[in-house]
Amino acid sequence: MAKILSVIGARPQFIKAAPVSRALRARASLDEVVVHTGQHFDHAMSDVFFDEFGMDKPHHHLSINGGGHGEMTGRMMVALEALALSVKPDAVLIYGDTNSTLAGAIVAAKLYIPIAHVEAGLRSFKPMPEEINRVVADRVSRWLFCPTELAVANLKAEGIVKDVYNVGDVMYDTTLMMRDRANSQSTILSVLGLAPGQYHLATIHRAENTDSAPALAEVVAYLRNAGQGLPVVLPLHPRTRQAAARFGIDLSGLRIVDPVGYLDMTALLANCSTVLTDSGGVQKEAYFHRKPCVTLRDATEWVETVDAGWNRLWKGPDYRPRRDIDAYGDGHAADKIADILAAQL
Ligand code: UDP
Repeated sequence: MAKILSVIGARPQFIKAAPVSRALRARASLDEVVVHTGQHFDHAMSDVFFDEFGMDKPHHHLSINGGGHGEMTGRMMVALEALALSVKPDAVLIYGDTNSTLAGAIVAAKLYIPIAHVEAGLRSFKPMPEEINRVVADRVSRWLFCPTELAVANLKAEGIVKDVYNVGDVMYDTTLMMRDRANSQSTILSVLGLAPGQYHLATIHRAENTDSAPALAEVVAYLRNAGQGLPVVLPLHPRTRQAAARFGIDLSGLRIVDPVGYLDMTALLANCSTVLTDSGGVQKEAYFHRKPCVTLRDATEWVETVDAGWNRLWKGPDYRPRRDIDAYGDGHAADKIADILAAQL
């Protein structure tokens, strides 16, 4: 049986791993060992997703979080290297663009363990931390599982063409997997006293908006103004909460709530008027729920959402004419990934 060591650690990775882990478990020839780096650790940022998705508890938990990029990534590398040497996996599976992705990529590459990268090939062409992590991960990966044809083209432009697969978007799989349950089980709208279509949904956590007082003040002022009479619900990422406290930035005028689980997030997305976000995943989920999105960044890696008129950059031009996006697959990206790995391992 081929052993796959999956490295996850941040909120979006639990959401991406949910359908993939399920698909791997369904293949008799594959055995998945899961390591949680600890990058996101509290209940609202981690455990809630394992509970809601019915995922097994990770086999290994490294409890590494905090510190700068170098410290966090370095500590993860030390621990992951020791773990990989004892687990002896046939492949390492990494997701997206976080420090956990980068640490997993470098460790596996130097131990000559083949790497499978889920969500390969996205580029915003800006030197943000996520982009750096993703470029390095792509460069050392053996299997590159792309969510869109554009991601395949980005890799081709960098000379990466071997074992590049457009499997579709695993987050689309997750959305389809959870949408009906969110509809029937989430009570978040009534808990928050919100009416469908009568609020905006915002998230902020990226470094460019939280690393300096002027940047955070600007984005908060923008959100306050964007409400136009409707409440702006902001499930507050711990990094943003800390930044606001550190910089003394007043969040009044926004409807601040704790980070929500995936069922509540899905219900909030499905019923909002507009999404305002600097998240990668949430821009795309806005489209999955056919909600217009304003991206609170200078660039996006999900350019097809902008081209198709569902998304725009906050300081960029207005929405383009709106059309459907034919890009994110058929909701079976995870099965395709598992089939390819089962056939080749
Ligand atoms: N999300 C969530 N609860 C929240 C905010 C976000 O479940 O309070 C989900 C969201 O629906 C998406 C994922 O977290 O699936 C996005 O993660 P995040 O924005 O932290 O990271 P990014 O996508 O920017 O890497």
